[in-house]
Amino acid sequence: MGWALALHGGAGDVPRTLPPELREPRLATLRRCLDLGAAALRDGRTALDVVELVVRELEDCPHFNAGRGSVLTAAGTVEMEACVMEGATLRCGAVSGLSTVANAVSLARLVMERTPHIYLAFDGAEAFARDQGVETKDPSHFITEHNIERLRQAKEANRVQIDYTQPLKGQQAQKETPADGNSQTGTVGCVAVDAAGNLATATSTGGLVNKMAGRIGDTPVVGAGTYANALCAVSATGKGEEIIRHTVARDVAALMEHRGLPLRDAAKRVVAGAPRGTVGLVAVSRGGEVCMAHNTTAMFRACATEAGHAEVGIWTDAGAGADGGESVSAAL
Ligand code: ASP
Repeated sequence: MGWALALHGGAGDVPRTLPPELREPRLATLRRCLDLGAAALRDGRTALDVVELVVRELEDCPHFNAGRGSVLTAAGTVEMEACVMEGATLRCGAVSGLSTVANAVSLARLVMERTPHIYLAFDGAEAFARDQGVETKDPSHFITEHNIERLRQAKEANRVQIDYTQPLKGQQAQKETPADGNSQTGTVGCVAVDAAGNLATATSTGGLVNKMAGRIGDTPVVGAGTYANALCAVSATGKGEEIIRHTVARDVAALMEHRGLPLRDAAKRVVAGAPRGTVGLVAVSRGGEVCMAHNTTAMFRACATEAGHAEVGIWTDAGAGADGGESVSAAL
């Protein structure tokens, strides 16, 4: 069926009233990254190269919660994380706790290719970055005015603590979506299958606004936020703690592997099985099938296939794709 790719820029409960100044730059970046990835696949680049290429572009865009636009921890710092995985070989690499690395996804790939390990974090990961000579920046480069304001709002509302086992200050802590719908959205990911049938996935994030320093989410956890095997490649976004509990990305692959489900059925079943409002994912199969499913109100997303299907979107009509139909986007 040829090459295919899908990318996301985060899932969340984004109101349809999201102002154009928050909507348009993200949509434009998704379109640009889609074109970039599709052109690279057409040129015969491997799926692994393409997911890294696309995620690097998304990391460089301050409108997404990864790289330059990473959200801040409760301490006002940035702790970026990323993961990359190649389906045919099950090779994977992951990094967490980065505060200076411009493109976490590329460091994750170096962990995969140049160390005997899978996952490096904090000081050890930073030291590895220096050793490899990857591009680094002063930590202040990643701290945008926008994210300082988001942290201030999150602290004021005592948001995000819902995910942790510490006491909550009042019911307001239960309410995690601020009025501008700009809360946790923005983690980025890309999945691809190239013309030779190789699958790969990459995900990169700054995590959750006001997360505890040291918190590790689903993104770098192989099988949770990121997974690929010989059948499919998956990148998830949403509430990391739920995605880890539900082993979202691996479950999609497991349903295909052990139950023989087609990609879309597997992806939709996994997303529908997670708590409402917590999970979105993009996935491609070896056969070039694409699925972009979420149980949040929205997911910034885009996909293209060699067969000529292309889509860029944020919201999905409620129930779309849930009926077993063939639509690529599904709201569950
Ligand atoms: N899943 C990410 C995390 O929990 C956040 C996101 O997808 O926006 O760190």
